[in-house]
Amino acid sequence: MHPVSNQHLSTYTHDATACEECDLLVPATALAVGETSSCPRCGHTLSRHLPDQERRPIAYGFAAIIMFVLSNSFTFMSFSAKGIGQEMTFLQCITTLVDQGYLFLGAVLSLTLIGLPLVYVGSIMLVLWRVDKDLHSNALRSLGRLLCRIKPWLMVDVFLIGVLISLVKLMGMADIKMGLSFWAFVGYTVLLIKTISSLDRMWLWQRLFGPTGARELDADATAMASGLVGCHICGALSEVGEHSCPRCGGKLHSRKPGGLSRTWALLLTSVILYVPANLYPIMDTVFLGDDSPSTILGGVVLLWALGSYPIAAVIFIASVVVPLVKIMALLWLCYMVQRGHGASPLGKLKLYRMTEFVGRWSMIDVFVVAILAGLIRLDNLMTIYPGPAAVAFAGVVLITMVAAMSFDSRLIWDLQQGERERE
Ligand SMILES: [Zn+2]
Ligand SMILES: [Zn+2]
Repeated sequence: MHPVSNQHLSTYTHDATACEECDLLVPATALAVGETSSCPRCGHTLSRHLPDQERRPIAYGFAAIIMFVLSNSFTFMSFSAKGIGQEMTFLQCITTLVDQGYLFLGAVLSLTLIGLPLVYVGSIMLVLWRVDKDLHSNALRSLGRLLCRIKPWLMVDVFLIGVLISLVKLMGMADIKMGLSFWAFVGYTVLLIKTISSLDRMWLWQRLFGPTGARELDADATAMASGLVGCHICGALSEVGEHSCPRCGGKLHSRKPGGLSRTWALLLTSVILYVPANLYPIMDTVFLGDDSPSTILGGVVLLWALGSYPIAAVIFIASVVVPLVKIMALLWLCYMVQRGHGASPLGKLKLYRMTEFVGRWSMIDVFVVAILAGLIRLDNLMTIYPGPAAVAFAGVVLITMVAAMSFDSRLIWDLQQGERERE
């Protein structure tokens, strides 16, 4: 390769931007391969210069699609006990839910495990493949925005942990074997994570539509105080009052619309749903005609009594503690912001980041129920059915995720700014 173009590839200068989490204006920095730029005030990662971003995501994405096809071609899991056995394919986790009338759960699983991941991988491959060729720029913008929007809703890795927990739950009762498709699914998960992590969002937008131009930035000023708005999709800076981002076409808001009231309303809904999610059975085991429904807590107690302490602890933390702590943490953050309490913003931001990070892992129990219901279907001996709490519980997890997304962490920092101005 020509030495000059090598030089060009080895550094990358991201645009001046506003930190997504605290709104501080951050000047452009030149990054060598492997380097990361982060916000000096809150530490949020702004941009990474990853190696070979034009080809790696395509290769990983292609391999992920092959693994997905393989994970649907063979047996996923099988079990045998007392001379009888049963096999399950990956899709049976979803079709069983639909057959039992749980259309909402079937849709959630289809979207988070199949639909959205494949759309994500397909969009990355299409965008990078057409990067220098003529694809309609509005189509490119829509695909690029889609990538940013669906990323939090991919739950393939959570499902994989669900499979491992179901395995441990069944181990005492039957002889469980993982089929070829299970291993292909492990490959699909790993390759999907590699596809996502091998592409930097800021780099992509700059590569597609060029840098947004140099700007004079005041040190220690926020975008709002400087009359600017940072785009939450591509990071470009625009003047306050512009409605859509000139680079990616995304809607611009200085602060998320709806303010705290949207977050309050969503949190209240999840608190209400949390009640049936814990009162009703999440799973119903019919053994020799004997019906024994179990609630989330009942399942934990049973696992504990059987001596499966680590699994009981994982389910208890993921299904009981995490949703409750997450709802309480968000309620507390909303309350503090509403009261105008501006002390220790970094501590509050860390709490907020934690709620965003742990949210989707609470789906584990819903996935475990789907796997057990798909696998244990021995008509006369033993059958597992999903219970009504599974729907309510999935609702709690999804709604708290939306609540966390609708909370604007920049409001925490606005209070500090306000206090500093009053001093
Ligand atoms: Zn920041
Ligand atoms: Zn933008």
